[in-house]
Amino acid sequence: MASWSNWAGNVECRPARLAEPRDLDELKRLVAGSNDVRVAGSGHSFTPIVATDGLLLSLGNFAGIVDIDRAGLRAEIGAGARLADIGAELQAAGLALANQGDVDVQRIAGAISTGTHGTGRTLGSISTMVAALKLVTASGEAIEVSGSDLKAAALSLGTLGVIVSVTLNLLPAYRLRERVWREPVEQALERLPELASENRHFEFFWLPETDEADCKALHPSLDETITTVEPGERIDWSWRIFPSVRERKFIESEWSVPAEQGPECFLAIRELMRGRHAEMKWPVEYRTVAADDLPLSPAFGRDTVAISIHQGVGKPWEDFFRDAQEIFRRFNGRPHWGKWHALQARDFAALYPQWDRFVATRRRFDPQNKFLSPYLRSLFEAR
Ligand SMILES: Cc1cc2nc3c(=O)[nH]c(=O)nc-3n(C[C@H](O)[C@H](O)[C@H](O)COP(=O)(O)OP(=O)(O)OC[C@H]3O[C@@H](n4cnc5c(N)ncnc54)[C@H](O)[C@@H]3O)c2cc1C
Repeated sequence: MASWSNWAGNVECRPARLAEPRDLDELKRLVAGSNDVRVAGSGHSFTPIVATDGLLLSLGNFAGIVDIDRAGLRAEIGAGARLADIGAELQAAGLALANQGDVDVQRIAGAISTGTHGTGRTLGSISTMVAALKLVTASGEAIEVSGSDLKAAALSLGTLGVIVSVTLNLLPAYRLRERVWREPVEQALERLPELASENRHFEFFWLPETDEADCKALHPSLDETITTVEPGERIDWSWRIFPSVRERKFIESEWSVPAEQGPECFLAIRELMRGRHAEMKWPVEYRTVAADDLPLSPAFGRDTVAISIHQGVGKPWEDFFRDAQEIFRRFNGRPHWGKWHALQARDFAALYPQWDRFVATRRRFDPQNKFLSPYLRSLFEAR
């Protein structure tokens, strides 16, 4: 029997069948002919949102850029394209994503399906860039999603169907100047309002062992003639500046809290890591995300601070993550869909004003629950 595991190695499954359809007709046949379907992106989620014992699809043959509308600042991208594979081609066409996360190995459909985001007070997740989306539905029909369904499909954990391509709103290609530095975390927190407003992208990693913050600020560099920079700085095209390489594997949990409560919530997590969980040494990441109107977005209706905690693979993490979850819950935190949390369907209705509407949309798209694995059932169908 085939097997699949995610990047961190904490989720494994044995699908009855793994398939990599060559074209749309084969994809439609596969979906129509199975009762239990999931799609794997790059496996960079820490939650079991890909796992299935039914049919597991990979859309590696639906990669690459399908169409570019340079004047309209849009591009249609195959669902299976990795972010890393599209930056150069978009740049050649004079275009770029408005923002990206820490790494660029995710596939575009995987990235939008969990609301993958970077940092920037005025910038939403990649899901908010979705202008159009093509899907193969549970019955095996290929459709273009429109109207309010598009907002649901732009962040849907793969529960509405198999995404075939995504059209994104883009920006004219731009270069970024990156500055990195270290300072005491309390100083960084004091300067946070100015750092987050003066730089298009600002984030920090708190280092528990020294109580310092590794700060990173990115700002567009409009003058193309600038090539020399100060020590600790880089200038390059945006898609080359955004991603980092993560060599050590880890498990992660991330929660979005209302922006104005971000510093207080961070301080409560810091207290937990200096007290009861002083054994936890991995950095804590602090980022900002703009409010949006996607029903399942952790930034729905509120400017957001996203706080991420980590632990190295193979080391104990669950007690700490559970204690941290309690703190994040006190701040009305919404978990990242791709990162560890222990919430279930009954918890989400209180966190998401449009939860019931999304659940109704999901049932309309997938009345037979073809795309609902046992884990996804625990998220979407209250028992
Ligand atoms: C090292 C690392 C760094 C990360 N950095 C960030 C970050 O900076 N910001 C952030 O927000 N998150 C980050 N994440 C989380 C990651 O971006 C998300 O979990 C993302 O969803 C992973 O994309 P993927 O292609 O691996 O998708 P997967 O994890 O494989 O799948 C995610 C979901 O998408 C669905 N899916 C995939 N393809 C399709 C399709 N064609 N049709 C329908 N559904 C589909 C899957 O079924 C699943 O539900 C990081 C994770 C890791 C491991």
